[in-house]
Amino acid sequence: MKIALYHSGQDHSLDVANDLKQLLLNENFEIDDVNPDIVITIGGDGTLLSAVHKYRALMNKVRFVGVHTGHLGFYTDWRDYELEKLVAALKEDHGEEVGYPLLEIAVQYEGEKKPVIYNAVNESTLKKISGTLVADVYIGGVLFERFRGDGLCVSTPTGSTAYNRSVGGAIVHPRLKVLQMAEIASINNRVFRTVGASLILAPNEKITIIPVAQGTVNFTSDREDTVGRVIKQVEYRIAKEEVHFAKYRHTGFWNRVQNAFIGKDNEV
Ligand code: NAP
Ligand code: MN
Repeated sequence: MKIALYHSGQDHSLDVANDLKQLLLNENFEIDDVNPDIVITIGGDGTLLSAVHKYRALMNKVRFVGVHTGHLGFYTDWRDYELEKLVAALKEDHGEEVGYPLLEIAVQYEGEKKPVIYNAVNESTLKKISGTLVADVYIGGVLFERFRGDGLCVSTPTGSTAYNRSVGGAIVHPRLKVLQMAEIASINNRVFRTVGASLILAPNEKITIIPVAQGTVNFTSDREDTVGRVIKQVEYRIAKEEVHFAKYRHTGFWNRVQNAFIGKDNEV
């Protein structure tokens, strides 16, 4: 089995990566950063996002494993003091995996012939840096509303606990292959009206957002962003490909949610 190690670049993550590399070599695993079967990330959930983007071309064959150098994360099953246990699990690997939906985003920039395609593991946002974002939102090609506010956040189920949650979106179990559009500070008064709630769309539905006001809109896809380019249109759907995680541990999703946001002390 060929393994790539991807770390956040922080001193501690680098130390953990070196320790893990040595343990893997001792057990005769092959280290291959170019064409791996498994990518182990060392850092936080954000580090995992960057690794998925780096290995996007191998999305169909590669499986990810996350080691967290801080608390337990949403994409990270292992802590940095559990490296021996992780190596033991890798030795027993039988190809166990779980797939999570990815967003496919097609951004049509002004002056470009074709849209640029992005994939997001967490979410994509459209925001105005200053002033109000005015944008027409289409669902399945039909105009749904004219949005006014700070922005819109379209997330995957696994991304629903990230930015989406901060803006009041629902937490969605990742076995549901759906996408969610949440509002970021919408303007609602006698003159302007939006739906005022987050929407969860069916697997084959498509959202199109067309900014109507002048000026540039800030676009993000996970950790990537583009600022200063004029965006004509953005289309969101669930990608055909999924991101796969090696599944050696069975931490249930609601368990993670409780762990991250409520804590064990709150048990009744
Ligand atoms: P970051 O500033 O470290 O991320 C913010 C926090 O979100 C960190 O605690 C991060 O965990 C956590 N996080 C990432 N993905 C998550 C998920 N799927 N569920 C629950 N928490 C999650 O920045 P980053 O590491 O580059 O991560 C980028 C992500 O940050 C974006 O995709 C976006 O979701 C999120 N973000 C949130 C806000 C907000 O809530 N207002 C604003 C901007 C960005 P780690 O510490 O383990 O990395
Ligand atoms: Mn982070």
